[in-house]
Amino acid sequence: MQANAHQTGRAHCDGAPVHYERHRPEQTTLYRLVQQHAASFIAHTEASTGSELPGFIKDEFDAFLECGILAHGFLRLRCGDCGHDKLLAFSCKRRGFCPSCGARRMSQTAAHLVEHVIPHVPVRQWVLSLPIPLRLLLAAQPELVTPVLQVVQRVVTRHLLDTASLRAGVGHGGAVTLIQRFGSAANLNIHLHCLVLDGVYRSGADGRPRLHLIRFHGVLAPNAKLRSLVVPQGSPKDEQAPGVAASGIQCEAQTAQGGPARISWARLLKRVFDIDLQRCPNCGAGELKIIAAILERAVIEKILAHLGLDPQPPPKGRVREAGLHFAA
Ligand SMILES: [Zn+2]
Ligand SMILES: [Zn+2]
Repeated sequence: MQANAHQTGRAHCDGAPVHYERHRPEQTTLYRLVQQHAASFIAHTEASTGSELPGFIKDEFDAFLECGILAHGFLRLRCGDCGHDKLLAFSCKRRGFCPSCGARRMSQTAAHLVEHVIPHVPVRQWVLSLPIPLRLLLAAQPELVTPVLQVVQRVVTRHLLDTASLRAGVGHGGAVTLIQRFGSAANLNIHLHCLVLDGVYRSGADGRPRLHLIRFHGVLAPNAKLRSLVVPQGSPKDEQAPGVAASGIQCEAQTAQGGPARISWARLLKRVFDIDLQRCPNCGAGELKIIAAILERAVIEKILAHLGLDPQPPPKGRVREAGLHFAA
């Protein structure tokens, strides 16, 4: 999307028009921090521990530094009505610390849970934080998260059954757990956010090597008998944006953990902020369609230079002298 893109036809409550500006990751504090210190951090860590950091950690830094940078390639969109051009940078789609891709995954997951999983009943969030030794143990042995979760679910369900004066087997609880691996200071802090149905369903009444970070329990579990009776029946058409533009913009979309279908980033922005990225910001009427994916260095430079944008990607930092002394 173009840097000065703005949306027409929508106003904030104070009457001012709502603008959408292209995300410029290279100007954020986090980007500059990673850009300047990642190489030194990796060198120091490897020198002080005497072993190489796993490849996926280094890849995470590299991918983050390329995420959303036009100079690393982009999609070119054009308005069918007025011919206005718009550029859409590729994203890293990583699960680590990239705020842009994290926000996208969060919106996707929320949309899926609201429309296809969580019934229209009161839901309470239970947060389970763990003693530090237990956090370290679960980080080293992620398979232990499951038995810990089972204990938590058993205790919470027991509490809800007692409140409803029902015994197990008659009343059925339901919950979705989102496993968080980091605290707010990006420190290692495995903790659990459990969205628990604040009651129980009564049966017969009317009737990888990756760690999965979202777990479904009770009536919300994938194989639960009551699941199809309680989850919302979301409209399937909401999951797929129509048209060529949508299918292209989906290049940037993420599939949520546990989500059966992906929702385009354009639709997620429309859903969360009521900003229509498929509508032409120039004429306000035409629909933007993808006309090309620009990946070749020479073409990228030519187009960006023509538009007055920086054709070179931001430089990556180098290991600094101080770090070498520290490492020694
Ligand atoms: Zn990213
Ligand atoms: Zn237009």
